[in-house]
Amino acid sequence: PAALTLTGLTKQYANADHPVLDGISLSVPKGQVLVIVGPSGSGKSTLLRTVAGLEPIQGGTIALDDQIIETGRPGSEKSGRSDRSSELRTRIGMVFQSYDLFPNKTVLGNLVLAPTIVQKRDKTQVEAEAVRLLERVGLADRKDAWPHELSGGQRQRVAICRALILHPEILLFDEVTAALDPEMVREVLDVILDLAKQGQTMLIVTHEMPFARAIADHVVLLEDGVIVEQSDDPERFFTQ
Ligand code: ADP
Ligand code: ADP
Repeated sequence: PAALTLTGLTKQYANADHPVLDGISLSVPKGQVLVIVGPSGSGKSTLLRTVAGLEPIQGGTIALDDQIIETGRPGSEKSGRSDRSSELRTRIGMVFQSYDLFPNKTVLGNLVLAPTIVQKRDKTQVEAEAVRLLERVGLADRKDAWPHELSGGQRQRVAICRALILHPEILLFDEVTAALDPEMVREVLDVILDLAKQGQTMLIVTHEMPFARAIADHVVLLEDGVIVEQSDDPERFFTQ
C-alpha cells in the first residue's frame, strides 16, 4: 500500500504565467524512500511544500494512505497554507533546509509543543518520548539547551526529532544538509539513513548524491515541473 500518492498534481504561483508543477504523479509505498533530484528551480521544494500543506494546489490530488486529503482548486494561486486541518498536517512531517526551531523554546520545549497542543497528548509521556528520540540522535544531554546554543547539525537533528515525535506517516526532507558546514553533514545524513533502516517512509530532496544512491528505493528526476525520468534502480540511475 502507498503512504502517499500524488495524482496529476499541478501548482501555479500567483503572477506566474505557467505552472511550477505540471501534472506530477507519483507514489511512495509504506516503508520506502523516494528521492527527488533535479536542477535548481525545477520545483522540488515547491513539491514538498504542497505535500506538507504549506501551499495550495490548483489541480490533481494528494492522498495519504489511499485517502484523498487535498484536491486542486483552480483559482487558489495565492501563496500561503492550504486549508488542511491541523490533525491532517501532523500526519506529514517536514524538515527544511534552514533550521526552523522556535528560538524562544528549549530543545525539549520545541519537541513537546505540537504533540501536546495539536494532538492533545499527555505532556509527561510526550517528554519521555522526546528524551528517547534525543538519545537516538545523540543529543540527550542537550535537552535543556536553547536553539542558538546548538550547532547547525545539532539543530537539524532536533528538527528531525520534532517531526518524528508526531508519528507522521511520511517524513519530507528538503535539502536538510545544504546549509550545514561539511563536518556536520554526515551526522545528519546518518540519522536519516538510520530512519530508513527502521522503515520510516520518506520523501527526500537532496544534492548529496552518494547519500541519495544509498538511501533511495525509488528516484525521480524533476525538470521544469515535470518528471522526466524515474527509476527503481538508484545504483544504475546514479552511475549512468
Ligand atoms: P531552493 O530553491 O529550494 O532554495 P535550490 O535548488 O536553489 O533550492 O538549492 C538549495 C540549496 O542547495 C542551496 O543552498 C544551494 O547552494 C545548494 N545546492 C544547489 N545545487 C547544489 C549542488 N549541485 N550541490 C550541492 N549543493 C547545491
Ligand atoms: P527547487 O527546489 O527545485 O530549486 P523551487 O520549488 O524552489 O525549486 O522553485 C521552483 C520555481 O518556483 C522557481 O522558478 C522559483 O523561483 C519559483 N518559486 C518558488 N517559490 C515561489 C513563491 N513563493 N512565489 C513565486 N514563485 C516561487
